[in-house]
Amino acid sequence: MLKMKLTKKELGELIFEAIVTMTIMYFIYMGLLLLFNQIVYSPPAFLLEIPTAWDVVQYFDLILIRFRTVFLATATMFAVLFTWWRLNRRYKQMQLRHILDELHYIASGHFDHRIDAQLSGDMEDVVNSINTLVESTVTAMEEERRIEQSKDELITNVSHDIRTPLTSIIGYLGLIADKQYSSTEDVERYIHIAYTKALQMKVLVDDLFEYTKVRQTSTPLIIRTLNLGNFLEQIAAEFELESGRKHMDIQVEVTAEPLMIEVDVDKIARVFNNLISNALKYGRGGTWVRIKAEKVGSEAIITVMNNGERIPQAALEELFNRFYRVESSRSQQTGGTGLGLAIAQSIIALHGGYIYAESNDEVTKFVMHLPLQQIKK
Ligand code: ATP
Ligand code: MG
Repeated sequence: MLKMKLTKKELGELIFEAIVTMTIMYFIYMGLLLLFNQIVYSPPAFLLEIPTAWDVVQYFDLILIRFRTVFLATATMFAVLFTWWRLNRRYKQMQLRHILDELHYIASGHFDHRIDAQLSGDMEDVVNSINTLVESTVTAMEEERRIEQSKDELITNVSHDIRTPLTSIIGYLGLIADKQYSSTEDVERYIHIAYTKALQMKVLVDDLFEYTKVRQTSTPLIIRTLNLGNFLEQIAAEFELESGRKHMDIQVEVTAEPLMIEVDVDKIARVFNNLISNALKYGRGGTWVRIKAEKVGSEAIITVMNNGERIPQAALEELFNRFYRVESSRSQQTGGTGLGLAIAQSIIALHGGYIYAESNDEVTKFVMHLPLQQIKK
């Protein structure tokens, strides 16, 4: 049991306690013996008047003399046991004091500290509970801090992305207000730029709204059963004009038998719109976009892929973070907000599925696993 390290002072206290207890016991024994002798050799008058009591005393005296060693041994053993019991009690108090000291130390801000006394029995349970409590409190605090930090980041990002278009809106409208133009064409051009920038801001705000909405796990889905093949072909068709302009070919590959799936159609459409427009926008040097859907067990695996420049490994891990954009696309001014994939990931998660990205020199893939049926909430 003695695993806890005692300080010199505490050790001193224990030794002192032992000596004091033994001494007290010794004096008590001596006192009792003296008293008994006194009674035997000069019995008080009242004792002699009660013959039985006097007999008992004399009888006891005889036994005492005959079994002297036994009496001595018993008395010593009793004294030792009593001392041990007192020391043990004192030692437990010291353990408790140690635990309290450590608790104060933790409470004063040393949250990575743990009580590491190796105890047994009740004390061990207490220490383990305290350590578990500290552990979970620290985890909760860290989580809180992380959330706080990510909120700050969100605000920083949003302010930055709103300020850029806002600055040019103010700039161009300012030119018009100060009459710094030479023709009506100039005015029209300035207004057009300001208008485009305002639209860009609206996209950001709408996306942000959508993002916070789909982030909440309680967001209700409007579930409908749909034929995935038809749905994907329809969405791909809407991109024909854009893909033609980019000289990229869009193909949809689905199994012959219809693949029926339960989804929130609007939300899933949003996911595919983003994935396909990303492929067209960022698949630099690419010539095709392919969308493949297949049924595996109780889920549909849908892949949106394109050829072209690969996404660097480091960026792959960040793609689904809000506002993340691979550096070149930021500087390229391709115009996105970097929320598309974060929204897509949340929407897929709301459906009980998951999405990940892979990229090599031949192909960049976004793979989704979606359950065919939704569990009724
Ligand atoms: P938004 O979709 O909100 O308009 P965005 O397209 O920039 O903006 P995401 O859809 O989240 O944002 O994509 C994040 C980044 O991932 C893109 O900026 C781009 O750098 C990279 N990316 C996404 N898809 C591809 C792809 N198919 N090929 C190469 N890079 C891609
Ligand atoms: Mg996008």
